[in-house]
Amino acid sequence: MPQRRSRPRLKLLFLGTGNAFNEDGRGSQCLWVEPRGRPPFLVDAGPTALAAMQRAGVDPGRLSAAFFTHLHGDHTAGWPFILLHAAFVALRSRPLRVYGPRGTRRRLERLATACYEDLLVGGKLPFPLEHAELPVARACGLRGPPGVRFDVVPVEHHPTSIGYRLRAGGVTVGVSGDTRWCPGLEELGAGCDLLVVECTDVRRPRYAHVSLEEVRAGLPRLGARRVALVHVSDDVARAFRRRPIPGVTVAEDGMILGL
Ligand SMILES: [Zn+2]
Repeated sequence: MPQRRSRPRLKLLFLGTGNAFNEDGRGSQCLWVEPRGRPPFLVDAGPTALAAMQRAGVDPGRLSAAFFTHLHGDHTAGWPFILLHAAFVALRSRPLRVYGPRGTRRRLERLATACYEDLLVGGKLPFPLEHAELPVARACGLRGPPGVRFDVVPVEHHPTSIGYRLRAGGVTVGVSGDTRWCPGLEELGAGCDLLVVECTDVRRPRYAHVSLEEVRAGLPRLGARRVALVHVSDDVARAFRRRPIPGVTVAEDGMILGL
């Protein structure tokens, strides 16, 4: 996939490209999105998110927000440690925004409290945590963090599963989160400069996921200029290398794409 070398309008850093089992040592789902001249934000924060940011040399203290695609632990369980870092290392005072499906606030508070029982009590967090809970329903043109507008499209994986179409700096990036191949996924991809799609299996998907063969067969229906596959194992990466799909790449931990 070609990359522009100078001043991309939007930078994507794939902090974690693995599945719930961290197969082949891949990190849990976490995508760093940085529009030019704007603060970065995350999409999902699986258990390895903070370690991945430290390894990549990006500063979690710069984050303006996090979007969550659904409430499974491999997409959310890194959140308590991001809060801990914000409170005790970054010494954050600016608000941190959270976007996610209904139930996100309660789930994230329970996670944080299970890890550190007093983290959220008595004003321990020295910054406002602002939650925007989204119905699992189509919505367009919502206002995100600074410089970002986004659409929400329900997808099919868990009752809370939503995909995001994020627009910033004239670039549109879709992120499927976990989903089976469904009409919502095809709707999400329409008009995207890049669509980040989960691809858990080579052939028959386990649970409600997408397979590489479904991507191969259905790519024209996604309507995105380019596709990056995440939530993968090395089996998927090897099968892809044996038989690549034009316009598609398999993301690796630490990979940067400029758009
Ligand atoms: Zn999931």
